[in-house]
Amino acid sequence: MSTATRTNPLAFLTDQLNDLKARGTHFKLRVLEDEQEPVCTFDGKKVINLASNNYLGLTTHPLLREAALEATRKYGVGSGAVRTIAGTMKIHMELEEKIARFKNVEACVVFQSGFTANAGTVSAFLGKEDFIISDALNHASIIDGARLSRAKILVFEHKNIAQAEEKLASVNNEPGKKLLITDGVFSMDGDIGPLPALCDLAEKYGAIMMVDDAHSSGVLGRNGRGTIDHFNVHGRVDIQVGTLSKAIGALGGYVCGTRDLIDFLYHRARPFLFSTSHPPSVAATCIAAFDVLENEPERIEKLWENTRYWKKELGLLGFDIGGKTTPASETPITPIILGDGKLTMEFSRELFQEGVLGTGIAFPTVPEGKARIRTIMTATHTHDQLQQALEKLKKVGKKMGVLA
Ligand SMILES: *Cc1c(COP(=O)(O)O)cnc(C)c1O
Repeated sequence: MSTATRTNPLAFLTDQLNDLKARGTHFKLRVLEDEQEPVCTFDGKKVINLASNNYLGLTTHPLLREAALEATRKYGVGSGAVRTIAGTMKIHMELEEKIARFKNVEACVVFQSGFTANAGTVSAFLGKEDFIISDALNHASIIDGARLSRAKILVFEHKNIAQAEEKLASVNNEPGKKLLITDGVFSMDGDIGPLPALCDLAEKYGAIMMVDDAHSSGVLGRNGRGTIDHFNVHGRVDIQVGTLSKAIGALGGYVCGTRDLIDFLYHRARPFLFSTSHPPSVAATCIAAFDVLENEPERIEKLWENTRYWKKELGLLGFDIGGKTTPASETPITPIILGDGKLTMEFSRELFQEGVLGTGIAFPTVPEGKARIRTIMTATHTHDQLQQALEKLKKVGKKMGVLA
């Protein structure tokens, strides 16, 4: 058969995209033309950036940049293999040791991303006879790992401890392993997971306790040690996941725990076994980033000062910044809840025209009817930039009938 007469077997994709367009939630990727900074250029337009996870401004920190360049000069641009074949470089081991010391745990393994750290870990040590008790708003990488493991997934309502206990109790007599798992900070609402109460439950029911600290690494706890440190539940969380892609400014994910947990993951975590390790520049960058966390705590203080100011001013303008129909943010992630998906996407586009980048987030990333502009504060936004952004938000808010 000639290609000319062959019908396109992917035509259904066009239908689905047209459906998104009709609902107003189709988007184009915004393209950054310079550095990830509080003011930068997307699609040829200079904007105030309220959308980045670059909490501490480390993506452009001179020490990190120099570390990457030096490692590239010394060791080249790639690792050449997966970790278990020939792709474990000394610098990979140094980073893992550095993180383990920082987190005050026995050992650490670094993955290519936070996503692979979660998905690779959950699927490595659970099987179909096991149970995963999971918060309804946990990150997609946890959900995918849970599905890959084929364990039974019991979802409890967001932060509902009583329901988490019911789920644990319901499988208490089953022989399988139980994993109780939560995000440390929830990525769309910015609220903090109830770690002490969940640790109590894990201990009461003999469950494995796991926390995903992607948005808390570099943000919460002493020098950004995360929610385990924030709540002082050291020794009560068996598996701590973090990311190197957000506040740390580079790329990667890691798992911290006992030496045996890490050794097991070296043998069984599929992204570790089947996907090439980081270039040496990435490992070197991350090592430098942990030095910055130790040596420049003022960055974290500034992050929180900006966060307090931002939340206060957005509230004064009259925006719903969570706490009514959605969880109340406790961190630099501050959603502006608009509800309707189409309105939210229009709001985001209008804001961009005014010179502010605030990403619109709609279903299925957040529940239907809870669409929002997700803003994230960083340590490097200046007071002037924040005031300008607030002016623009006010203008667009009034124009679109969101503010009175
Ligand atoms: C971003 C995020 C991840 C994934 O981290 P990457 O390093 O970007 O892959 C995992 N969990 C949560 C809660 C996140 O917000």
